[in-house]
Amino acid sequence: MIPPINEFILWANCTNKCKFCLQNLKADHRCVLSEDEKLSSIQKTYEKLSDLPYGDILLIGGEICGGVSKKVAESLLSLIEFCRERIESGLIRYLYLNTNLLYKNLDIIYDICSLFSGYEDHLRLTTSYDVYGRFSSIKDKKLFFDNASAITSRYPEQPLIVNTILTHQYYTSGITVRDIVEKTGARSVVLVPYIPVKYGDEMTPTPDEIFDSIENAESEYPGYIRKYVDNFDLKQDRTLWEYHSNIDSLEMCESPLASCGHNSNFARVLGGKCFVCELKKRYKRYINPDTVS
Ligand code: SF4
Repeated sequence: MIPPINEFILWANCTNKCKFCLQNLKADHRCVLSEDEKLSSIQKTYEKLSDLPYGDILLIGGEICGGVSKKVAESLLSLIEFCRERIESGLIRYLYLNTNLLYKNLDIIYDICSLFSGYEDHLRLTTSYDVYGRFSSIKDKKLFFDNASAITSRYPEQPLIVNTILTHQYYTSGITVRDIVEKTGARSVVLVPYIPVKYGDEMTPTPDEIFDSIENAESEYPGYIRKYVDNFDLKQDRTLWEYHSNIDSLEMCESPLASCGHNSNFARVLGGKCFVCELKKRYKRYINPDTVS
């Protein structure tokens, strides 16, 4: 049985304003947490983590590693070290960390990778890439690729995952999964379906563009679809926590599921039908080779 995952939004505020980010639409950019509030969020997360049974942990922002003070970075690192210790004790399976890599000082990432030396497969270090809505300048885009390459060259044993937003612009740019692997040194590139706030906006890909992109990835990396479907169809109990500074406490957030059991946001990818159910239907032959005639 797959163990549960507890996800912690340490601070939701991020000033990058990626066009595809739903959190960006919700977050009030005037309410960036103060240093003391960030420290308190880390402390509350540490306390909650200490009580959790065996499972996976995800730490996310906004952005948790970039643009933080020395004090916050040290405190965050202690929390991550605590997670590594729980991995050693068999209390955590995977620690997922998401970061945007749009900052110049990578010391905290290097420290995290060093902490996981010998435990690399338990750290799911994840970043995201997008050809249209993420980078406000060529300089930012270069910074992202330089950072990703610096990490993967310095810590070749540490897998880096690059979630790539599958938009209309991704499809028309002609970039491929292999291009992104080569430019970042990533161990894997996941084409994450773009979830439109309004279906049909400028970034919404057509269903053909979505499935062509996935099939192109399969032709570059045979076996891609099978892993892709498994990944999205994962039935894992998920609890989402968010720190609220007004009450100085962690609150459990709702994560609504559709009747098929998949997150209800997946119904927005194709304008109504659940994306994961469609994947399973369309790629049956990849998932269960016995059904190929
Ligand atoms: S960098 Fe991440 S959190 Fe910030 S706006 Fe972009 S996707 Fe959202």
